Amino acid sequence: MIEAPGEVARAYVGLGANLGDPLAQMRAAVAALGKLPTTIVAGVSSVYRSAPVGYLDQPDFFNAVVALDTALSPQALLDALLAIEHEGGRTREFRNAPRLIDLDLLLHGERIVDEPRLTVPHPRMVDRAFVLLPLAELDPACVVPGAGPLAALTRAVSAQAIGRIGALAAG
Ligand code: ADP
Ligand code: MG
Repeated sequence: MIEAPGEVARAYVGLGANLGDPLAQMRAAVAALGKLPTTIVAGVSSVYRSAPVGYLDQPDFFNAVVALDTALSPQALLDALLAIEHEGGRTREFRNAPRLIDLDLLLHGERIVDEPRLTVPHPRMVDRAFVLLPLAELDPACVVPGAGPLAALTRAVSAQAIGRIGALAAG
């Protein structure tokens, strides 16, 4: 499907945090997403907890997925996500480093974007139970452009250790 510019699309944003007060930072990020122009928060998944990957000597990660209905383009939404990370005190040190808050653009409607600073669908989402499980809560019938049905992707990561710890709002 081709979306005209400005048309409202369902987008999914992945939240991650493992320093400070992760749940408070994630709640602040959801509030900031809800204030973006032409954007409403259509759903928030449960929070999931998992051990770090890559760089192991850091606290466990907390992750969730937020559904947005937005008329922002993928590029404008990425800029907004980076601004929210910045407001949340994020500093970029190295890949997989501990962080206060990370916001990734997972999906933007049916769009496929392959640009130097933006890849959609997010290239690593299909490997990550902490993305696929919360996304499946919000849209179990989701088909990831270029990768296929979410249900099959979720089965493929079923060996990853991850715990569902409850609603974000409940803290
Ligand atoms: P990661 O989230 O993989 O740990 P970073 O958050 O440090 O890595 O990487 C952020 C950079 O990745 C951004 O500056 C952005 O330009 C780029 N990027 C490419 N595609 C995406 C996407 N779909 N969502 C978020 N950032 C993306
Ligand atoms: Mg990121």
